[in-house]
Amino acid sequence: MVAQPIIVSLPDGTRIQVPAGSSAGEALAQAGQSLRAGVFAAKVNGVPADLSHVLREDASVEPLTFVSAEGRDVYRHSSTHIMAQAVQEVFPTAQMTIGPALEESFYYDFAFDRPFTPEDLERIEARAKDIIKRDLTIKRTEMSKKEAIEFFEARGEHYKVEIIKGFDDSAPISLYSQGDFIDLCRGPHVAATGQIGAFKLLSTGGAYWRGDERNPMLQRIYGTSFPTQAELDAHLAKLEEIKRRDHRKLGRELDLITIQDEIGPGLVLWHPKGALVRLLIENFWREQHIQEGYELVYSPHIARLDLWKTSGHVEFYRDNMFASMDVEGSEYQLKPMNCPFHIMIYKSHLRSYRDLPIRYGELGTVYRYERTGVLHGLLRVRGFTQDDAHLFCRPDQIESEVSRVLDFTFFILRTFGFTEFEVYLSTRPQKSVGSDANWSIATEALEAALKSRGVAYLVDPGEGVFYGPKIDIKIKDILGRSWQCSTIQIDFNNPERFHLTYTGEDGKFHQPIMIHRALMGSIERFIGILIEHFAGAFPLWLSPVQAVVLTITDKQQEFASGVVTTLKRHGFRAERDFRNEKIGFKIREAEKAKVPYMLVVGDKEVQSGTVSVRGRSGANLGSMPIAGLLDIMRREISHPTR
Ligand SMILES: [Zn+2]
Ligand SMILES: [Zn+2]
Repeated sequence: MVAQPIIVSLPDGTRIQVPAGSSAGEALAQAGQSLRAGVFAAKVNGVPADLSHVLREDASVEPLTFVSAEGRDVYRHSSTHIMAQAVQEVFPTAQMTIGPALEESFYYDFAFDRPFTPEDLERIEARAKDIIKRDLTIKRTEMSKKEAIEFFEARGEHYKVEIIKGFDDSAPISLYSQGDFIDLCRGPHVAATGQIGAFKLLSTGGAYWRGDERNPMLQRIYGTSFPTQAELDAHLAKLEEIKRRDHRKLGRELDLITIQDEIGPGLVLWHPKGALVRLLIENFWREQHIQEGYELVYSPHIARLDLWKTSGHVEFYRDNMFASMDVEGSEYQLKPMNCPFHIMIYKSHLRSYRDLPIRYGELGTVYRYERTGVLHGLLRVRGFTQDDAHLFCRPDQIESEVSRVLDFTFFILRTFGFTEFEVYLSTRPQKSVGSDANWSIATEALEAALKSRGVAYLVDPGEGVFYGPKIDIKIKDILGRSWQCSTIQIDFNNPERFHLTYTGEDGKFHQPIMIHRALMGSIERFIGILIEHFAGAFPLWLSPVQAVVLTITDKQQEFASGVVTTLKRHGFRAERDFRNEKIGFKIREAEKAKVPYMLVVGDKEVQSGTVSVRGRSGANLGSMPIAGLLDIMRREISHPTR
C-alpha cells in the first residue's frame, strides 16, 4: 500500500506534502525546522504532542520549544520522569505515584519508608545527570486497562495500579519508557533524555497520597530544569532572592508580625512596628477616600445569619464561612463579607436619584474558613481586613463611577511603588443571575471605562461573578511576580435581594446598581506583598523608624538628644541608640532593622552642629546641619499627587 500524501501546514503559513504516517518530527525536519534548535516536541492541530506522533491526515504542526509555557511543561514533565528513573535506580523499593510539572519546577511523590536526605538528593541528582548523558530514546506505547494493571502489579507499583483502576475501561492506556524505566503517562514528552540541559534537585517534603491526611504520607522531591546552565543559575539566584525577601522571615526579623499556633493558624498578631506600618497605610487610605468622595463606615464582626441568607452567601459561599453560633436562640455568623452591612446603611433612608452615587468605604475585617494546608503567612489567612467599598449608583452612572475607581486604584497602587499592571475584564459565567440587558449594560460600561482610561486589558470570558461582570487588576512586584489585588465588580443581584430602591426623576421607584470594589484587596496580604517587594526596606513614609541617632561616646548624648527631639518635632519617627557599644555594631544593627537614615554624632559633629548621615544601603551622605537633613527627608516623603 502506498501512503497517500497529506498536507501539513506550518506556523509561518507554508504548507508541505508528506506521506501519511509520517511523524510530526519528520514533517518539521522536512520543512527545514532543525531539531537541534531546541525543538523537543510539537503541537499538532494546537495540541502538544510527541515528535514521534504519527500524522494520518492533514494537520497543522508547530515546533514546541522552551519559549512557550506548553513547551516548558513538556520539558519539565520529561525531567520528572528522569528524576523518577534515577530514584528507582538508586532506591529500587521506592514506588512511584504522580509527578507533575509546575510553572517553574516539577516534583514527583514516592512511596518510600523514610524521608529522602540531602545525601540521597545528591546521589539521585548525579544519577539523573547520568541518565541525561545516556540520551535514552523516549518511547510511547499503549496497553489495554487490564494489561496495564497486570503490568504494574508485576512491577510492585501499587499506586499506579490504583490510578489505572480509576480510568475508563475502554480507552487505551499510554506508557512512556526510556531504557528500562517505564511510567504510566498521558505525555507528551521530549524525544530523548539527552534533550534536557541543566538539571537540579531543589528540596524534599511530605505529601499525603491524593492530598488526603487519612492516606499514607509520601516523599516528595522537587526539582527544576532549564536548557542551559546560565538559565538555571539565574533561576536559582531568583529563588535565593525570594527566600531572602520572604515576608514570614522578614516579619519576624523586623518584629512586624507573628502568627502563633497558640492563637490559631491564619490569625495575625501585629507587633508595634508592623502595626505602625499598617496604621500609616490605613491613614493614607482613609484620607484619600474622604478626598475622593467616599463616606467611611464601620460595621460589626458578627450579625444574624439571616443577613447572609438574604445576600446569598449561605447558598453560594458557605464552605468558606465559619460555623454559625447560637445567641439567645438565634443563629449569628462571624462576617465573611462586609456587603450586607453597607446595604443596610443604604436602606436606612429613602434615597432619591439626586443622592446617587453613594460611596461607602470601610476597612472591614472579615473571617473566612480556609483549610490549614493552604494558609501562608500574611498572603492567605483566616481573619483579614478588606479595603472595601460599595458604590450605589444609577445605571447611567456605572461608566463614570468605574472610570473614577480605575483612576483611584492606579493612583493608590503607584503610591506604593507599583508601576506595572495586568488588567482583566471578566464576562458573564455559565451560572449567573440577572437579565441579558443588565449584563450587557454593565459589561459595556466596564469596557468603555477601560477604553476611556487607555488601559490595556485582556478579556477573561465567563470568569465574572455570578451576579455581574468585573475588572481585576494584578500588580507586578520587583521580582516580576504577579499579585491579584484590586477588583471592581458590578452587582445587580444584591440590590434585588435586599429590595433596594431610589426614587427617580419620574417619581417612581427604581433599583440602584451596586459596585463592590477593593483596591489593595486585603491589608494583610498587601503588606505581605510590600514586605517582599521592598525586602523589608519600606520607603521613608512607611518606615516604622525613619531615623536613628547613634552616639560614638557618652559625651555626645546631650546634643544627640536634641537631634532626636528636633526630628520628632518635625513629625519624623526617630529613635536613639546611645548604648555603650562600638559605632560599627550600632550601624550594623540599624542597617539590619532597615532604618532609612542613620545619624552618627561624634565630637566633630557636636562642635560643628551637624550630623553625619548614612543610608541603610551603606551610602555615606556626609555631614550636614539638621535643617539640611530635614529638607532631604521632607522631599523624599511627599506623596505623588493625582
Ligand atoms: Zn510523563
Ligand atoms: Zn461587597
